Amino acid sequence: MLLKACLNGARAATAHPCLPVTPEALAREAAACHAAGAGAFHVHPRDARGAESLHTADIGAAVVAIRRACPGVPVGVSTGAWMLPDVEARRARIAAWATLSSDARPDFASVNLSESGWASIADTLLDAGIGVEAGVWFPEDVPRLVSWPRASACLRVLVETQAPEPEAACQQARTLVDALGATGLQRPLLVHGDEGGAWAVLAWARQHGFDARIGLEDTSCFRTDVPPRTTPRSWPMRGPRHRIHRVDARLGPADARDSAARADPATVTGRTRTAVSRA
Ligand SMILES: [Zn+2]
Repeated sequence: MLLKACLNGARAATAHPCLPVTPEALAREAAACHAAGAGAFHVHPRDARGAESLHTADIGAAVVAIRRACPGVPVGVSTGAWMLPDVEARRARIAAWATLSSDARPDFASVNLSESGWASIADTLLDAGIGVEAGVWFPEDVPRLVSWPRASACLRVLVETQAPEPEAACQQARTLVDALGATGLQRPLLVHGDEGGAWAVLAWARQHGFDARIGLEDTSCFRTDVPPRTTPRSWPMRGPRHRIHRVDARLGPADARDSAARADPATVTGRTRTAVSRA
């Protein structure tokens, strides 16, 4: 099971005292999460003002810093349409990532299938030698994915629940996983929640053997099913060798919640479930 750390998301630098924005801060937090078991990272690189950026120099600076801190750990970035809504302008900016040297080019990037022009963004990433994480938010994203001629070339499919309530978020995860399983597409699934649904979906993913992610992009709260005073400093994922203590320790108190932001992943050994392998 891969646990990916989502370090900052779209949140403002002021959203949480531990939220990393600069390449140096991203590298520091990545190293801490990797020491806790994270096996991959998803980040939203920023410009000099702290705003989200798709510019080649900003992407490269963040990736290089994280790679120096965590050699060999895959690094991914966002391509969210909110950063540059014009599809062709965004596609051209992402195409320029192909000019990055191998140490500065992201290993993969997430593409939201509910966004206009997603297929051209995904094609551009593959042509640049960057892996694609296909982001499925809603059931209608599933037929979009299978209609893409290069769907089988995806690195993985992200099952991204939107409900803020734990029970509803887990039901969304099950619905999306079942829909993907019915397609026969054999790509690994990484399942995660958002805000109030984040911890419940992480537990659901673990229970069912899927890859998962957690971090300040997804939630700035401690687990909601455990009172803060009794929340352990370590959270066992698969025995004593795989504990996400630093991830837990760096999530803020329940009253630090900020509905405007999200976070990413870490890795734990074990089998990787795909859409068709789910029992
Ligand atoms: Zn993100």
